Amino acid sequence: MGRLDGKVALVSGAARGLGAAEARLFAQEGAKVILGDVLEVEGRRTAAEIGEAGGQAVFLKLDVTKEEDWKRAVDLAVSRFGKLTTLVNNAGILRRGNVEETSVEQWDLVMDINVKGVFLGTKYAIPAMRKAGGGSIINTSSVAGLRGGGATAYTTSKGAVRLLTKATAVQYGKDGIRCNSIHPGVIDTDMLADALNDPERRAALVSGIALGRVAMPEEVATCVLFLASDESSYVTGSELVVDGGMTAGTPAR
Ligand code: NAD
Repeated sequence: MGRLDGKVALVSGAARGLGAAEARLFAQEGAKVILGDVLEVEGRRTAAEIGEAGGQAVFLKLDVTKEEDWKRAVDLAVSRFGKLTTLVNNAGILRRGNVEETSVEQWDLVMDINVKGVFLGTKYAIPAMRKAGGGSIINTSSVAGLRGGGATAYTTSKGAVRLLTKATAVQYGKDGIRCNSIHPGVIDTDMLADALNDPERRAALVSGIALGRVAMPEEVATCVLFLASDESSYVTGSELVVDGGMTAGTPAR
């Protein structure tokens, strides 16, 4: 028995990183998975690997800023797998820079992908989930959505995702649709490769983490799995922080 037997999940930004780890784990646990991403070669490869491992997965090109792409993604879930029960809004980009360093173009790009992308995914998934009798939406925020940081547009976008999650939770609880946010800390993916490959920057990051290390994507995926499964049937509008204690306070040495 898989923990997601009977579920049909759509994961955005699933070609690599956290989204790929989530798609893999979901398929292992019995879900049928649609992987959406702008990276077509990597996305198809990830979906093929899931298939070779015995899972059911299909890749589709999805630019989360495009309404038409979301419509096609939800339609594919229903036509291929019969329904949509689960959405992970995972796609996101990081741009660093304080307020003065942030250009309007950079601001708009980050807000479009990180916030509008989550809004559109939610908007088009909800009617399908209602038809399925309920569902679970997991929005990928960050520790950057809980406190201030140097990446202005990113921090702002992740704060918006946190409250979009709560708005969705209060609006669609009556339909049996749950919505929660996940707040990863420092995870070893391409997004942070520049910082993690630089020994000084890596040491500075790790010094603020109670557990004293960076996490692997699979350690976030297991938490997203909980929110996607019926084990979290009474959890909605909540924030699951997966940061090794980073936001708990300064590590005691
Ligand atoms: P990543 O860069 O490895 O993966 C992000 C994926 O999103 C990529 O496959 C990329 O192609 C895709 N993507 C980007 N723009 C897209 C678009 N317009 N449409 C569809 N897909 C798009 O990074 P990751 O670390 O796996 O990040 C996943 C999520 O986790 C992001 O929302 C990120 O902000 C969040 N997050 C990451 C960390 C971390 O430490 N890595 C920490 C907190 C939050």
